[in-house]
Order: sequence, then C-alpha cells, then structure tokens
Amino acid sequence: MPRPIEAVVHSEALTHNLGRARELSGCARVWAVVKANAYGHGIERCFDAQRQIADGFACIDLNEAERLRALDWRGPILLLEGVFEPRDLELCSRLHLWHAIHCEQQIDWLAAHKVLWPQRVFLKLNSGMNRLGFTPLAFRAAWQRLSNLPQVDDISLMTHFADADGPSEASLNAQLAVFEAASGDLPGERSLANSAATLRHSKRSLAGGVDVAADWVRAGIMGYGGVPDYPEHDAAHWGLRPAMSLRAKVIGVQQLQAGDAVGYGSTFVAEGPMRIGIVACGYADGYPRHAPTGTPVLVEGRPGRTLGRVSMDMITVDLSEHPDAGFGAEVTLWGRSAVNGAELPIDAVARAAGTISYELMCALAPRVPVRVE
Ligand code: PLP
Repeated sequence: MPRPIEAVVHSEALTHNLGRARELSGCARVWAVVKANAYGHGIERCFDAQRQIADGFACIDLNEAERLRALDWRGPILLLEGVFEPRDLELCSRLHLWHAIHCEQQIDWLAAHKVLWPQRVFLKLNSGMNRLGFTPLAFRAAWQRLSNLPQVDDISLMTHFADADGPSEASLNAQLAVFEAASGDLPGERSLANSAATLRHSKRSLAGGVDVAADWVRAGIMGYGGVPDYPEHDAAHWGLRPAMSLRAKVIGVQQLQAGDAVGYGSTFVAEGPMRIGIVACGYADGYPRHAPTGTPVLVEGRPGRTLGRVSMDMITVDLSEHPDAGFGAEVTLWGRSAVNGAELPIDAVARAAGTISYELMCALAPRVPVRVE
C-alpha cells in the first residue's frame, strides 16, 4: 500500500483562476505562467485546463517549452529570462519561442546566430527591481540594436514589478513612471503585470497612457489560487479557488497526559489530557519544516492545528476538538477537504510557516502521488 498522502490538482480551479485574470485585465491577453513546472502542479497536468483561457504560456526552461510543444501547443510561448547560452537559440528558433532579452550578451548572441526565421523578442526594462533588464539609459540603444538585426522581426517591451503587492503604491508608481519614460513612443506590445498587479492595479490607466494590464498580463500565482498579498486579502476575496489540495491520513493516535511532549525537540508539551493524531505528511513531502505549533489544518474538513515539530515523514495534529476523528481520518494540509469541501487557503499555511504559497507549491515532493480532478 502507498503511504496515505496525495495531492490533487483541480482542473476546474485552474481554468476559473485564469478566467479571473482575463476578467480583471480587460482587453489584455493572458500568459499562463508555468515556470517551475507550473508552480509545482505539473505542466502536463495543468495544460488542458489552462489552455482553455491562456493566450500563451510563459516559462523559464527550454525543457518546459519543449514539453508544451509536445502537448501540441502551437500558440505563443515566452521564455521569461530569454536564453542562457548562444546554442539555446537553435532550439528556441525551432520551437518558435518568443524570448526575453534582458542584457547585451543576449543581443550579441542573437546577432551572431543564424536563426531559422526572424524572432519575436520581449525587451526587458529594469524599471527599479534591479533583477534582470536594461537600465532606462541603455533601453533605447538596446531597442535600436535589436531593430537593426535581421534575426528580429518584432520587439515587445516588458518590465517586472518588485512590489505590486506592497502596502504602498509608491514603488509601483515609480516603476510605471520609469517604464513610461523609457519606452515612450517605442512601438511594440507591452507586458508589465504579474498577479499582484493584475489583481490590484489592472484597472488603472496612467496619464502617460500606460495601462497596467497593457497588452499581456503574466498570471502566475493567481492561476494556482494563491495570492501574493495575503495579509491584505485572501484568495477568496479575489474570487480565486485552490488549484491544489494536499491531503494525508492519520496513521497513528496517541493519548497524552499533562506534561507529555510531542515530537523532536519536545517543543509542545500537553497541559492536560488530550488526543493527538500522527499524519502521513512531513517535510520530505514538501510540508514546511518551519510550520510551528498551531499551523492550520483541516481534520475531516473542520479547522484544526498542528502540534510540535514537523518531521521528515509525519506531522502531529491536535484531535481534542475532533472526537470522531481517529485512525484513517483525512487531514487536509492545504486546499479543499474531500470530506465536506471546506477550504484551507495555502496562503494561511504559508503565512503560519513564515513563507509564501509559491514556495509551498513549488516544494511539493516528487514522492507525493498527484491526481488530477
Ligand atoms: N513575470 C515574471 C518575469 C516573473 O518572474 C514572474 C514570477 O516571479 C511572473 C511574471 C509571475 O509572478 P506571479 O506568480 O507573482 O504572478
């Protein structure tokens, strides 16, 4: 028998969530961001559901793009970071990929390369995040260089927000202003918004004419039912549904007395008699090791909490409030309970563990069986 743990990918939620990106972003087209193996959900598992809404798929690895083409996706695929070495251009061209250009080296490689047909590129501006992209001063010269290359037939413009989910809009406004000034009257489509900007700012249109949703939004976490700005609003507020549920079963029950401790480090000590359940999910399954006592779970679909330290293969939950739950009871670590459909937002678990839902999704371990529903 396999260990009683499984992850479920909810197809209907994937389609619904991308549909929310479409609703919020007006006329913009929607990239379904599927980097990191569709944020841990599995590109192949999500594809049928996502393709119903997505105008294109955005990824990082050539391997991910190849897998999308193998699924017979003939529409746009964008490599968000472009190519990592010159020889990648060969495959990039064969697969008809669009690719970001964020540095001079990538232009040099393109200029020296014989591509099969002219490329569509997304010239990336570093508008303030200081990760990838040309500085505002170098942006126009880069555009000029690209526009003179026979290898290039279309130049779109993109940037990425550092703080679209932050409490203040100052950083977003500053980046927008930089983008407007640097891109000005350059022709080409624009892509600026990630999930946070799509959820919170896509309706905005600035004086200079840059619409936050612009021509393409890049919907990552929201497509999977997570939110970047949990403390302000949860996923339900934005009309998003969990696209992944992680469920395991109680494989042992213990009765504690006052003073009894739980797990490694004995970090939880019972104050009185209580019943606990040992659940077949640990950090080797992708559950966060740092989740403290009190991290929310659903026991048979009702709110519960973890106790003590997370071990490699097990966690402990409090069964005091769950007299009917015993050996074999369902524990939902995040997502939707199969018992009653109750939902535990992955962001709530992430927050308790001091991380973000992105990390939890991406960390789902290969040993966890995944079912698509
Ligand atoms: N665009 C770029 C360039 C990214 O790196 C990412 C992810 O980090 C996204 C879009 C999607 O971001 P999110 O998952 O916050 O929507």
